[in-house]
Amino acid sequence: MLLGRQGAGKGTQAARLAEVFGIQHLSTGKIFRDSADARVPAGLAAKEYMDRGELVPDDVVVAVVEERFANPVEVEHGFILDGFPRTLRQAHELDRILGHHALDVVVNLEVPVEVVVERMLARGRDDDTEEVIRRRLDLYEEETLPLIDFYRRRGLLVTVDGLGTEEEVEARLLAAIDSRFDPVPVDAR
Ligand code: ADP
Repeated sequence: MLLGRQGAGKGTQAARLAEVFGIQHLSTGKIFRDSADARVPAGLAAKEYMDRGELVPDDVVVAVVEERFANPVEVEHGFILDGFPRTLRQAHELDRILGHHALDVVVNLEVPVEVVVERMLARGRDDDTEEVIRRRLDLYEEETLPLIDFYRRRGLLVTVDGLGTEEEVEARLLAAIDSRFDPVPVDAR
C-alpha cells in the first residue's frame, strides 16, 4: 500500500512497481476517473465529489474495492493499493475485505506540502485548481494522516523520501520493500 499526500507521486510509482513485480495497480482515483469518462452513472456521481476536492463517500469507495477483490484474477498475484484506504473507516473495511494479515508493507511516500502543491498545479488535472488542492490537502491531514499511525502500530510502515527523480524514488522504494521481505520471525512482523 502506498500512503502519502496528493501529488507525492503515488500513482507514478505504483505504476512502476506494478510493472516491476507484475502485479495489479489499484488506484481508486483512476477507477473513478475512468468510469466518469465512460459516463457510468456511479463514476459521474463520484466526479462531483472529486471536482470539489471532497472525498467520495466511504460506502461508495469500499463497494468499488470490494468488487475488485471479489474477482480473484485481479489480485491473486498481488496488488498495490494507491489512494485507498484514505480514512480509518476504509482501513477497517479493508481488514474485513482482506483479512487482517494480507498486507506486506505500507509505504509512506513523503513529500513536503509546498512541493506537492507545485507538482499538482503543473499537472493541471480537472481537480488540480488551487482552491480544490487546498481542500484535498486539508482532508489528507484530517482523514488520512491517522492511517500512518494505524499501520505503524501494526509494524507495517516504512517511510520513503519522495523527492528526486522518478528513478531515484523508485530505487528507494524497491530497497524499502526489499527490507520488508528479509526473512524475519513471523511474530516480529
Ligand atoms: P490525489 O491523490 O491527487 O487526490 P487520486 O487520483 O488518488 O488523486 O484521487 C482523486 C480523487 O478521487 C480524490 O480527491 C477523491 O475525491 C477521490 N478518491 C480517490 N480515492 C478515494 C478514497 N479512497 N476515498 C475517498 N475518495 C477517494
